[in-house]
Amino acid sequence: MDLESKLSEIGKNLRSSLIRELLKYASVPGSISFGGGVPDPETFPRHELAEIAKEVIEKDYKYTLQYNTTEGDDELAKQMVKLLEKAYGITGIERENLLFTTGSQQALDLIARIFLDKDSICIAEFPVYLGAASAFRINFPKFETIPLQDDGMDVDYLEKKLKELDEKGLVNQVKFIYTVPNFHNPAGVTMSLEKRKRLIELAEKYDILILEDDPYGMLRFEGENLPSLYKLAGPDRVVLLNTFSKILTPGLRLGIIIGRADIVRKATLAKQAADLCSPSLNQRIAARYLERYDLFEQLKPGIELYRKKKNTMIKALEENFSDIPGAKWVNPQGGLFVWMTLPEGFDTMDMFEIAKEKKIYYIPGQAFTVDDSVSTSMRLSFCLPPEEKIIEGVKRLKEVVVEYGKKKGLI
Ligand SMILES: *Cc1c(COP(=O)(O)O)cnc(C)c1O
Repeated sequence: MDLESKLSEIGKNLRSSLIRELLKYASVPGSISFGGGVPDPETFPRHELAEIAKEVIEKDYKYTLQYNTTEGDDELAKQMVKLLEKAYGITGIERENLLFTTGSQQALDLIARIFLDKDSICIAEFPVYLGAASAFRINFPKFETIPLQDDGMDVDYLEKKLKELDEKGLVNQVKFIYTVPNFHNPAGVTMSLEKRKRLIELAEKYDILILEDDPYGMLRFEGENLPSLYKLAGPDRVVLLNTFSKILTPGLRLGIIIGRADIVRKATLAKQAADLCSPSLNQRIAARYLERYDLFEQLKPGIELYRKKKNTMIKALEENFSDIPGAKWVNPQGGLFVWMTLPEGFDTMDMFEIAKEKKIYYIPGQAFTVDDSVSTSMRLSFCLPPEEKIIEGVKRLKEVVVEYGKKKGLI
């Protein structure tokens, strides 16, 4: 059978992500990987979760081993309302404003399904979170990307873009503006309060929804918390996505959509078609965990671990790269990533061949573009390697950059 001729448009367009391909190399013995954007397993509260899992399987089996409603566990919803108040100061959340999803990834997919058509325009940041871009692509919208600066999205550029689209009569086709305001994946930057307010003003002016994806907000290791867009603008303007992946464990696959009841309702109907419901067992485990433990207290050692690793990476970058003019990196206040940019002429994808030889892995910036364009940047994740490996890895990275730079006549 000729598979290609049978496939749908979507099926034909599916391709393995660059990240997936590149991460295959990271298991080579002796390699050091700054590639994987996954939490450190030592931060998972495995004993607590194991105890709760046994208990809820044995005692709550009529719930945990059964089908569940599409909306998800009411007990988890109760805990979530408390958590949203504590983490963001968000109040007034009712059950109808919440939908539990199979990770935030499903939330992104559901949002794409209910908002985007072929002629829709989707505004995202550049660089963009790859998972979001792949989810939005499902309905083949057009992308407009807004560059990120050290204090978040370039809102002047956004304003110019929206004005342009308005003049062309296209602004109604813009369905939402997708942003990761805190400790961006991959760019590491955080949107300033001033920019948050301007983004909301622009969204209000042109009547566009903001999709706020905040998996890292609770993983701040420096600086002051900033109010979420949802808190600032409310459910008429913002849909907030959250997840337990970075603050508890990604293995539970638990995400959440927080938004206006009618939007949540549509997403619920889309979820029904996708998977009926998220696993009852996982939701109840998370509910009991939040009931019994103070998540913020539990997060402290993990945040401290990430803070140390981040500082180690930044120090190593300063020590190794200050003699490469034009090389720069973002020093994040939280999250899991450092974004490094090399001088003009570098192509971090092309450079990956040398990185492979030296057994040091990163994610080339090209993976975070919507059009596969060449990039001088790369994402360096500090969350998995121990500190001595971070130091050794940055040394290897320097060798890679020097070798590539000399080969191409760039340094
Ligand atoms: C990790 C991450 C997520 C979380 O995805 P899950 O499906 O919940 O594991 C969402 N958005 C961004 C930007 C991320 O980095």
